[in-house]
Amino acid sequence: MSAALHILVRGAVQGVGFRPFVYRLAQTLGLSGWVLNDSDGVTIEIEGDADQVQHFLHQLQHTPPPRAQIDQIEATWHPPHGYTTFQIRPSLPRGMPTTLIPPDTATCPDCLAEMLDPLNRRFGYAFTNCTNCGPRFSIIAALPYDRPNTTMRAFVLCPACGAEYGDPVDRRFHAQPNACPVCGPRLAFDVVGEAQSPTTPPLNAALTALRQGQIVALKGIGGYQLLVDPRNAEAVARLRLRKHRPAKPLALMARDLEQAAALVQIDQVAAELLTSAAAPIVLLPRTPQPSIALADLVAPGHPYLGVMLPCSPLHHLLLRSFDGPLVATSGNLSDEPICIDDTEAHQRLGQIADAFLSHNRPIERHVDDSVVQVVAGIPRMLRRARGYAPLPVPLPATPPSTLALGGQLKNSIALSIGPQVFVSQHIGDLHTLEARSAFERVIHDFLRLYAAQPSLIAHDLHPDYASSQMAHTSTLLPDARRVAVQHHHAHFAACLAEHAAPGPALGVIWDGTGYGVDATIWGGEFLFGDVAASQRVAYLRPFTLPGGEAAVREPARVALALLWEILGPASLEQEDLAPLAHFNPTQRSLLLRMLQHGLNSPRTSSAGRLFDGVAALLGLHLQVSFEGQAAIALEHLADPHESLAYPFALEATTAPAQSAGGVTCVPNPIILDWRPAISALLADLRRGVAPQQIAARFHNGVISAICALARHIGVATIALSGGCFQNRHLAEGVIRQLQAAHHHPLLPRHLPVNDGGLCYGQVAAMLSTTN
Ligand code: ZN
Ligand code: ZN
Ligand code: FE
Repeated sequence: MSAALHILVRGAVQGVGFRPFVYRLAQTLGLSGWVLNDSDGVTIEIEGDADQVQHFLHQLQHTPPPRAQIDQIEATWHPPHGYTTFQIRPSLPRGMPTTLIPPDTATCPDCLAEMLDPLNRRFGYAFTNCTNCGPRFSIIAALPYDRPNTTMRAFVLCPACGAEYGDPVDRRFHAQPNACPVCGPRLAFDVVGEAQSPTTPPLNAALTALRQGQIVALKGIGGYQLLVDPRNAEAVARLRLRKHRPAKPLALMARDLEQAAALVQIDQVAAELLTSAAAPIVLLPRTPQPSIALADLVAPGHPYLGVMLPCSPLHHLLLRSFDGPLVATSGNLSDEPICIDDTEAHQRLGQIADAFLSHNRPIERHVDDSVVQVVAGIPRMLRRARGYAPLPVPLPATPPSTLALGGQLKNSIALSIGPQVFVSQHIGDLHTLEARSAFERVIHDFLRLYAAQPSLIAHDLHPDYASSQMAHTSTLLPDARRVAVQHHHAHFAACLAEHAAPGPALGVIWDGTGYGVDATIWGGEFLFGDVAASQRVAYLRPFTLPGGEAAVREPARVALALLWEILGPASLEQEDLAPLAHFNPTQRSLLLRMLQHGLNSPRTSSAGRLFDGVAALLGLHLQVSFEGQAAIALEHLADPHESLAYPFALEATTAPAQSAGGVTCVPNPIILDWRPAISALLADLRRGVAPQQIAARFHNGVISAICALARHIGVATIALSGGCFQNRHLAEGVIRQLQAAHHHPLLPRHLPVNDGGLCYGQVAAMLSTTN
């Protein structure tokens, strides 16, 4: 009996070899009809023997191509049209573009084998790719995803590549970036300050430069990277000096798993992450006996290293000829966005790099390397970009169509279409002009790519964030309603929405800084509610931050502020403590006046600052060059075998009832008082207890305090979010204790727990809003 199906496949199904797969399947089963890409995804007409059609549908659902991500299959039976063959039809022009743009993916094993085969025509070719791998998001200029809409449009396929492109059974059938040494992009090498390029092949010239300890700027997938030999201490120091990055750890790229294992400990989860199509940077503990001697400056004092495997053919070729791993850090000056444009790269990176290894395939948009860490056995995103963006993260329901502009630090933006939230690649801290223009570019890029006209713009409650100010520019979607979302509520909503947890839940939202409903700086918050609204039921006891932002850069100030809350003016006399010894008498009297009169000294309940202050009391980092540096050192110091915990107190207090941005301050919140913990810490310090024990007792105290509060509130679901939960010791400890007490803790996974996840939470907070 003959039957026919009309099938609509939605999801990441373009640019992943879906149509050749469908074609081959139809051929094998002796079915006729057609397949095409359209803006909904892939549409299929299939007809023939009823059993075989049924079998076709089953195979489609259960054995799709490896890179495909099917969200939905809609199949409707109808009378057969009487097709005699099966065809791949040209893509239809766009209607409503709900199609997913695929992320850039690392080289597949087939392509790698071809590049390494001396008899293959792509032997040693740095731009080899196929429908299962290669650049996507970084080269797509418009939808639908066809070659003329990519930065490959200028390269005319040679006959051999054209034949592959047109052959439905070939792995490169309609592989838009298909290329070979005859027709595709080419490498170029030039030395900074020299007009003439050397005559040696570019790859060899770059390898020679790296072996000599030079810094090479490499045009990668989503932007320039800076490469240097990590075993060469002088070279690494030079990179740090020129990049204005004194201490933040540098990422490494290793040739393969085996070489990575010479640096870090790799378990099953880590191995899968490293070799995944996304090929992110994974933070992993150093091996106790490394067989590769890295310069200390690569990650000074860090027990963890950020390691990735080659994510493109060019990286594979470099790493296979270099006799060790390479530092591969973003091609930028400190916190600016990475360079993608060749001319701009030469201007901005010319002061840092000694040489450039570039090529003539343009990069459409910046996409940084992603960073992932494993917490409680599960990979968690720290920076979401290459390999993941712009794949959507679903919401449990459909909000009004929303553009969310995120926060100020680690910014990313989000756009909702139906229940899907398209989260942009990591943009970065919006302090510099460059970052702010990248931010604007990404906003317009997203609105154009997805042809969206959102009815809402969601932004942070902080009036001074560049993202909040952008929300209020009249030229951006003039008809859209502006909605402010309180910072910690956005963190809370993001965590709940990602886990499709309906609430009510308790949100333990701990971070460095977020603008509060009462216009003070919040950061040690306990929110009770759901994605739409929450109540501030408890918070860390506030303290004074002498000098505001200056205290973020100088944790010694925070330490002094903590002492002030316990000892008052006598805190200035604790000269045996490292933070006091750090200040000269003039500075001390200035700080004293600031604390006494609150001059330029905001009140804060920031948990991030509390960790900074404790680190400073232990003399770890009295000054920092990046946010979180002191707290990270405190985490790494903590002895995991210590069982004692410093006491925190829960106290009832009263507060004015006020609300904004989805958060209501209850009139009778609980104060989590950290003063008993700091007093116990000071006693230990003076008794000569080892700092490893002290750091652990502080962490243990915080963990117990959070669990005590969860018990007090008495709700099952506990959403953990905010930058403090990047701290593994804290996150894993809280999860373990909450589970033991039969709570249900949730920690973000697909989106960063830090401010990179705010935009998604801002959209989630719109779930109850009507247009
Ligand atoms: Zn491939
Ligand atoms: Zn070719
Ligand atoms: Fe935050």
